[in-house]
Amino acid sequence: MEYAELRRRLVERLVREGIIKSRSVREAFLKVPRELFVPEDLRRAAYDDTPLPIGYGQTISAPHMVAIMVEELELEKGLRVLEIGTGSGYQAAIMAEITGPEGIVYTVERIPGLAEKARRNLEAAGYAGRVEVIVGDGSKGYPEAAPYDRIVVTAAAPSIPPPLVEQLKPGGILVAPVGDRYMQRLVKAVKKRDGSLDARSGVYCLFVPLIGEYGWPG
Ligand code: SAH
Repeated sequence: MEYAELRRRLVERLVREGIIKSRSVREAFLKVPRELFVPEDLRRAAYDDTPLPIGYGQTISAPHMVAIMVEELELEKGLRVLEIGTGSGYQAAIMAEITGPEGIVYTVERIPGLAEKARRNLEAAGYAGRVEVIVGDGSKGYPEAAPYDRIVVTAAAPSIPPPLVEQLKPGGILVAPVGDRYMQRLVKAVKKRDGSLDARSGVYCLFVPLIGEYGWPG
């Protein structure tokens, strides 16, 4: 079966399950070719709803988990987004598709080899101009391009890194898996005018660890 057909079936299922809710997320999932973000020998599994290994002991998140995070972010055209944990670059591409040419996605990856691969994946999928991949410790955020309308962490954090709160605009939304190494809950937080966070815990999840100054020791 062709990738486009497999993609359509996966999206239909995520819509039916109530995981994809909005039209913009649905359209982005229908458009971004996930097969270009997984290793070549795993492409036949690109549209299984499962995480896949991408090298260096890291994984591309399962499509339903990307959908949950992106729905929680309430993305719109023109927003400035910061992602911590580029991995394959797939989620960055989904977000760039939604924020459109007027928006921008900055994504930070600590493993240089993965960042380089993600750049190539994004280029191949046509998102090179809308996504900037930065190598570094994303637990410190990326102050150079702050403030952001949205911040998403795609690695498990012991708690929400304070620099990320600082770099979020008032009214901005932050989504991050928070917990211990073996189980987390997806936290959605809105930054209030006074600079504090209004946070609530959502679904249980399992992400690879955020390693860095405000994450886990490496
Ligand atoms: N969003 C990715 C999946 C990310 S997996 C995708 O769509 O494919 C989590 C990634 O976070 C891994 O690549 C890991 O190397 C990275 N990571 C872990 N700690 C980090 C840190 N402190 N700063 C930046 N990236 C980090």
